[in-house]
Amino acid sequence: MQQVIESQIKTNLMNFCQKDMRDYFASIGEKSFHAKQVFKWIHQKGVTSFEEMSDLSKALRQKLIELAEVVTPKVALDKPSNDGTHKWLIDVGGNLVETVYIPEDSRGTLCVSSQVGCSLNCSFCSTGKQGFNRNLSVAEIIGQVWTAVRTLSKQHGEYDRQITNVVMMGMGEPLMNFDAVVKAMDIMMDDLAYGLSKRRVTLSTSGVVPRIYDLLEQSDVSLAVSLHAPNDALRNVLVPINKKYNIDQLMEACKLYAQRGPHKEITFEYTLMEHVNDELAHAKELVTLLKSKQVPAKINLIPFNPYPGTPYKKPSNNRIHRFQQYLMEAGFVTTIRKTRGDDIDAACGQLAGKVQDKTNRQARYQRQLSEA
Ligand code: SAH
Ligand code: SF4
Repeated sequence: MQQVIESQIKTNLMNFCQKDMRDYFASIGEKSFHAKQVFKWIHQKGVTSFEEMSDLSKALRQKLIELAEVVTPKVALDKPSNDGTHKWLIDVGGNLVETVYIPEDSRGTLCVSSQVGCSLNCSFCSTGKQGFNRNLSVAEIIGQVWTAVRTLSKQHGEYDRQITNVVMMGMGEPLMNFDAVVKAMDIMMDDLAYGLSKRRVTLSTSGVVPRIYDLLEQSDVSLAVSLHAPNDALRNVLVPINKKYNIDQLMEACKLYAQRGPHKEITFEYTLMEHVNDELAHAKELVTLLKSKQVPAKINLIPFNPYPGTPYKKPSNNRIHRFQQYLMEAGFVTTIRKTRGDDIDAACGQLAGKVQDKTNRQARYQRQLSEA
């Protein structure tokens, strides 16, 4: 009981960006340079015990032990894959979320979750099928990066730089957890923490239009937009939030977001589902749409990742390449997201994988835990 009371009143410094940390140190009557020291200890050196923060005075260390704590994620499963991909299941108070690391030749991308479940219910997404459970805290979001950096640097015997990019494309809709996500991304980009450039931190949204305008004011990260359809009729079915904010409104917001500086194109994600949105007529309509709206755009095609119970199918490679070819000939840089980490069910953006509902998902997680 004593312990419970103590931990309830302690402040979790993992929730703080650098400014919050300074405010906190001011509030406990300490100089702001200590805030920087502690921030660096936590995020650069991975140290969470105040006792080990050797450049703090003994008295300050003691004070922090009494008042604060640094809570790191509880890792339920830590699973490397044969192709270098690495997946973590994080226990956030009984629920599990996923974080995935995907190494490529010149970069290493970490795919981070922002919510437990998602309320937006896109028809092809298994996270959506789970329903919304809750938002993750700043500590739970940045904690995924903290955990990945620690594990990978231990594994590779060097400090970091394994992670060069972060994409908010794990479980959840990041713009529906706006404040915590923006703060966590600030920490990712802070030179005293992970020092990622703003071009290498990408937020993916299904199109919560008012929050795109808010993002424009408060952050400068790269934006990816889950378009998936070239017209409202189809997008209303696949991405139901389109009924609230349609393609015109979305494109207007994207255009403004891209105008914040040079080289700021928007990445449009387009999950290809056989005979649903993968015909040449769709590619043609997509080209017309993007050209007419004059949004600087790159396109990222994602072959649909099937799971039991879904009516959608992954198109053949021929169809995927035909779609890509059309877009490229029309002048759009178009990539196809490679499926990686298949052996650990970790293909980024398809994290919920082979489940339909929460019960099945939790059962699968439990299975993975017992198999690990
Ligand atoms: N909620 C955000 C970010 C998470 S999903 C968003 O929707 O943008 C990351 C990407 O994976 C999105 O483009 C999403 O539409 C796509 N996706 C979801 N389920 C998928 C599936 N089963 N197969 C392929 N792509 C999927
Ligand atoms: Fe939510 Fe994104 Fe899945 Fe849609 S695709 S249900 S917004 S996680």
